[in-house]
Amino acid sequence: MILVLQEGITREEKGRLDSSLEDHGCIVREISTYQLGVVGAAGKAEKDVDFFQDLPGVERVIPISTSFKLVSRQMHPEDTVVRVRDVEIGGDRIVVVAGPCAVENREQAFTTAAEVRKYGAVMFRGGAFKPRTSPYSFQGLGVEGLQILADIREEFGLPVVTEMTSTDQAESMDKYVDVVQIGARNMQNFELLKCVGRIGKPVLLKRGLSATIEEWLMSAEYIFSEGNDQVILCERGIRTFERYTRNTLDLSAIPIVKELSHLPIVVDPSHATGMRKKVAPMARSAVAAGADGLMIEVHHDPDKALSDGAQSLYPKQFGQLMRDIYVISPVVGKQLDFAYDKKSGSSDETCEENGREKKRAAFLGMEGTFSHKACNQFFGNKVSTASLPSFRSIFEAVKTGEVDYGVLPLENSLTGSIHENYDFLLEYDLKIVGEVTLRVKHHLIGIPGTKREQIERVLSHPQVFQQCRLFLEPHHEEWALVSVTDTAKAVRLVREAGKPTDAAIGSREEAKIHDMEIIEEGIETNPRNFTRFVVIGKEPLPKGPRSKSSLIFSTVNQSGALYRPLKIFADRGINLVKLESRPIPGKPWEYMFYVDLEEDVESPGFETVLLSLEEHTDYLKVLGSY
Ligand code: PEP
Ligand code: MN
Repeated sequence: MILVLQEGITREEKGRLDSSLEDHGCIVREISTYQLGVVGAAGKAEKDVDFFQDLPGVERVIPISTSFKLVSRQMHPEDTVVRVRDVEIGGDRIVVVAGPCAVENREQAFTTAAEVRKYGAVMFRGGAFKPRTSPYSFQGLGVEGLQILADIREEFGLPVVTEMTSTDQAESMDKYVDVVQIGARNMQNFELLKCVGRIGKPVLLKRGLSATIEEWLMSAEYIFSEGNDQVILCERGIRTFERYTRNTLDLSAIPIVKELSHLPIVVDPSHATGMRKKVAPMARSAVAAGADGLMIEVHHDPDKALSDGAQSLYPKQFGQLMRDIYVISPVVGKQLDFAYDKKSGSSDETCEENGREKKRAAFLGMEGTFSHKACNQFFGNKVSTASLPSFRSIFEAVKTGEVDYGVLPLENSLTGSIHENYDFLLEYDLKIVGEVTLRVKHHLIGIPGTKREQIERVLSHPQVFQQCRLFLEPHHEEWALVSVTDTAKAVRLVREAGKPTDAAIGSREEAKIHDMEIIEEGIETNPRNFTRFVVIGKEPLPKGPRSKSSLIFSTVNQSGALYRPLKIFADRGINLVKLESRPIPGKPWEYMFYVDLEEDVESPGFETVLLSLEEHTDYLKVLGSY
């Protein structure tokens, strides 16, 4: 039941209500979010609406319509993010768990872990207790396997997940692993579910071979009912009449689970298909369908694997798949930590410095802006964030050390470079230390009930007006376009004015934060609308590999002057991914060249490249390698 409490209820009265609910066998949860004074109660004992309605302090009772309560979206309207050490499952990042079916020996597990980590897996999997169809097949190394997993965590910094097959293993699981997996065959082993509920570690709950989504969520409810809210669902295919694949991957479970429940969901295409060749297409589809992550079987030598070799990817294939996922993720508003080494660099040194607990990163505008999203997607929970009012204030704050990093848009795929920021990069002695690309989807937003015909003014950032040109053009006579500093501010101003004659263009998140309505969805001229954000700092992030560099240079006004620096890149086989010329302020008809290269030109071995570049340019600035 959802209980809406009487307005003005005091803390003491609420405390009495909670205890009385608990005395009647109910599990009580605050329904956080924006609604204060709302609690959820799931009862072991059968109680009807009247019982709750009569409790002191209760204004209204809304029954939860589904059989599962604590895991239902009604009980917890926001997405749950499960945290496993540094990894967040259910947020803006696609989390990839990879590793062999079973831990076979130390060498096999370590070799595979090094490979999957290299390609961007953020968690390691490997069975130590294997539920095998035949009693004569390899059954796993047992506790010795768990110890190897714990050593892998130490060595590679990857949290580890493994399956628990019996309640006897509870103590060892607690001791050695980060996430306890409940396998498909045990999804309805209720004693096991209650046991992992009590261990309290995050649980990866696989869907049973022939379980309905409702049964699956009921199993999650068992874990919750023991007080453990850290559940990750894993769709791994169900048994159907189809025999060309090992199981049938039910991708429709993703949007259904997302609607019914607040829990994160990952997909295991390996057990779903049973065939190596089918794993990548299904993994790509899962991400496109909205999965929060993937669990993939990878073996350094799958032909010799003791179990599930036929479905295990070769490390290189896994690398290729990660490249695809990296490209697909921004299309669905997410990000993959593809260059994991690079990212772990930023996280490893988040503490101490400047006497602060966490490093700080600044972005433009308020919460919900694309800059805020870019900041979250790059750093995750590893920094604290600060919102600043202008690009210059971000550069200043990084310069003075008030913040450690700044996140800035540098280029949009529809409208080109954001020159203001290039000018600041020239002016300030700071480095580009990272980049992140977001798909930018714009919506026309108004106060609830606003009709398109009523609109007289549209507020947004000028760049956004450009990106929505085709949508706005037919209305140029009725709608006055009002420029403001960022999209979140536009939405807030329209909310504050509260008039149906005003509308804003902004993101879905901004509309949600301000309780506003989307009048028209996806109004950017071209849906392939991406913005590339860069992260600036005083020093490059400590760890490599860095794969890209940005430079600015100018040449003398002479024939062949541009050819010479370009020839240096060509001779060294360095790929250029951007070349743009831009007028030098105050020097009519003279130009700077902005170049992005697929190489770390600041690494040892490239000194000669930089020296010859200096020779053939009259101004050169390396903006950073990242
Ligand atoms: C596994 O992930 O190792 C496994 C046995 O999977 P499932 O329970 O989905 O068959
Ligand atoms: Mn397996």
